[in-house]
Amino acid sequence: MTKRKIAVIGVGKIAQDQHLPVIEKSSYFELAATVSTRGVQHRDLPVYRTAAELYAAHPEIELVSVCTPPEVRCELVREAVDAGKDVLLEKPPAPTLSEFTDLVAYAKAQGRLLFQTWHSQYNQAVDNTRDLLACEGVESLHIDWNESVRKWHAGQEWVWEPGGFGVFDPSINALSILAKIMPFPLWVRDATVRTPENRQTPVAADVVFASAQAHAPKLSGHFDWLSDEDRWTFSIRTRKGTNISLENGGMRLRINGELRLEGASEEYERIYERFAQLLERRESLADDTPLRWVADIMMVGRRETVAPFEW
Ligand code: NAP
Repeated sequence: MTKRKIAVIGVGKIAQDQHLPVIEKSSYFELAATVSTRGVQHRDLPVYRTAAELYAAHPEIELVSVCTPPEVRCELVREAVDAGKDVLLEKPPAPTLSEFTDLVAYAKAQGRLLFQTWHSQYNQAVDNTRDLLACEGVESLHIDWNESVRKWHAGQEWVWEPGGFGVFDPSINALSILAKIMPFPLWVRDATVRTPENRQTPVAADVVFASAQAHAPKLSGHFDWLSDEDRWTFSIRTRKGTNISLENGGMRLRINGELRLEGASEEYERIYERFAQLLERRESLADDTPLRWVADIMMVGRRETVAPFEW
């Protein structure tokens, strides 16, 4: 099979940790070039300072993965679409819902394929949880998404700027899992959003969700970026009394305390397999649900100002 040539735009942490190595070992794709504003070179591949330079030099590269922060991403996607490229897009897809909606419509109107990814959805334990909840329903669900911004986002100033999402940069991953596993629609009922007095984006939040289910399941989340302990867990009780613990960001599953599944992370391997399938079928894929929930949290959330944050 001939591999499809792909370029990566934005050679930061996630590109280096996942996209570049996963593409390199993929049987569907050939890593052909990178675009890096800082000129970060990967092996002996050509590197360009701008996407325009890449497109001019390599018209044969038909695919790009856009791995920059959301603030600059939409412009890069439009530029790629205008250049006739199909696009894989990191999360969160855009700084606002309206821009995201426009982006999806624009790619469609231009006949380009847009695969907007939510990497945390690509775990077997997440699929198993979704199947169990479809059978047994939900009595209660609580999300704990706690980590240290200093450990996981060291030096990333953009996370504190408008459009940088703050604690929702990682916590939108939890919301993407929630969107995948819930057997019924839900919405944000109430939230408290805590923002350091010297920053623009939140460092913590508590959220209560509601649904139209007659039995009124309890649905909540606690999102904390100043935690000493990494804890990315869903604690769920089904209507049949089963206790589900979906742990480690969706990679580990316990049922009634017993370990049922613990996978190594293959999220990005599965994402690129999905991209290959979508390209084969010429189908785009995009879901704004997690982004909508974040926007709603910011709309209904009570504001609390907390101590200044310094790295
Ligand atoms: P990062 O380390 O700060 O890298 C982002 C890269 O984007 C920069 O190194 C830079 O690379 C490029 N860039 C271009 N314009 C930029 C601008 N105006 N401001 C900042 N960077 C700019 O961030 P990251 O952790 O890789 O995250 C990037 C995206 O991936 C985020 O949306 C994040 O939510 C998502 N993500 C991150 C992780 C993770 O573990 N970090 C996991 C999954 C998803 P060049 O110098 O090469 O242009």
